Amino acid sequence: MSDLNPSITELPFLAGLDAALWAEAAWQVWQGSRLGAAELAECRRRRLLDLLRHARSASPFYRDLHAGLPNYGRVCLADCPAVDKRTLMREFDRVSTRPEVNLRTVERFVSDPARLGSLLHGRYAVWSSSGTTGHPGLFVHDSRALAVYDALETQRFRGQAAGVDQMVSWMRGERYALVAATGGHFAGVSSVQRLLRALPWMTPFVRACSLLQPIDRLVAELNAYGPAILATYPTAAEMLAEEQASGRLRLRLRELWTGGECMAPATRARLQSVFGCRVRNAYGASEFLAIAWECPHRQLHVNSDWVILEPVDARGRPVAPGERSHSVLLTNLVNRVQPLIRYDLGDAVTMRSGRCPCGSAFPVIAVEGRCDDVLVMPLARGGVGAVVPLALETVLEERAHVHDFQVVQTALRAVTVRLGGEQPASAASAVRRALHAYFQAMGFADIALDVGDQPPRRDCLSGKLRRVVREVERASP
Ligand SMILES: [Zn+2]
Repeated sequence: MSDLNPSITELPFLAGLDAALWAEAAWQVWQGSRLGAAELAECRRRRLLDLLRHARSASPFYRDLHAGLPNYGRVCLADCPAVDKRTLMREFDRVSTRPEVNLRTVERFVSDPARLGSLLHGRYAVWSSSGTTGHPGLFVHDSRALAVYDALETQRFRGQAAGVDQMVSWMRGERYALVAATGGHFAGVSSVQRLLRALPWMTPFVRACSLLQPIDRLVAELNAYGPAILATYPTAAEMLAEEQASGRLRLRLRELWTGGECMAPATRARLQSVFGCRVRNAYGASEFLAIAWECPHRQLHVNSDWVILEPVDARGRPVAPGERSHSVLLTNLVNRVQPLIRYDLGDAVTMRSGRCPCGSAFPVIAVEGRCDDVLVMPLARGGVGAVVPLALETVLEERAHVHDFQVVQTALRAVTVRLGGEQPASAASAVRRALHAYFQAMGFADIALDVGDQPPRRDCLSGKLRRVVREVERASP
């Protein structure tokens, strides 16, 4: 499921990575950027064969799953069965290709907030994903995969001159802020902390700000810090744009980076006009950090030399270019420790046919992403405040330990939580405690909370299951 990609590891060879690995990844990504469409397909095929060979020899799970397939010289990716998050987590130890990377060790690692940004066994990044599909996921990436993600971000998202640009920007004392849910080992905040652990001298220039704090405190923190680049979710950017427009927030941004949710053209236009800077979108996930980057023509280009995306319908059949998919299968061509081959990512995407005017050979994709609502509720001190969906979801996942839920604002001061799946008897009271504490800390006044036993409901028009829904009339606050 799409996540926010912080895109800041400008000097990856210093950020806890081996210099030889970094140089090799940088060289391969540089070469890949110069390939034509046919050469990219050949490069992808070679990497896929290597991955399939490795998975069959080193992962007991894939050895069984792919047992009946033809030899790899003739195998077609579409012959391989798809895998989902529930299976991947259930079979975690058999999917892993390294005995020291097992569920027990990984769960112990992520349960310790002090280890945020450090590497498991000094080699592996561990990222937990929000349970948008009702199941939380734990994804382990080896050093080579991290080097490739960093090189993709530096060379393709930031552009070839990124290294020089960034040096100039640091010399000018420019600062970077990631505004995100910071309560767990999420890919975005973990990557920021990995950088800061490796380069502590960058602490004055790079910061992760929590979205789980009252808006006036976040505004004060950002005003005092004064970032030139800000990365966040589109809903959080909108909330900050309201603060900027009101004059309470006073940022002078050079660039605003967004990801993790869908962004309507009107939202982008509003952000650009309020912040007076360029807005850039990216598509990343805990399963592959740098899936696609946005070119100057505002098109998302897939890094198709390192990741394969297959849009599929509800029955897992391929969807033609130009048609919106039900989900997308992801194959990570670089990560070896936890192979992901035809992994069901859950995002609805549309592959575009034809070349982008920018001339890039990398395919163009449109991603629907999460489309949850921002809740707007009365504050105790008067006026109203906004609750960004990803903050609310993080509170329920990390503090109430529920993953299959739907939060519905039914009136200005009333919120209903629907819990699905098999929940322990204590889930409802854990949800009540966590939300009451959160609403109080955020300064909201007397919100009536109903934790019902009705399961989450799909949207009657789109058929989509949204986790945070605002059913109050838009005009009511
Ligand atoms: Zn383009």
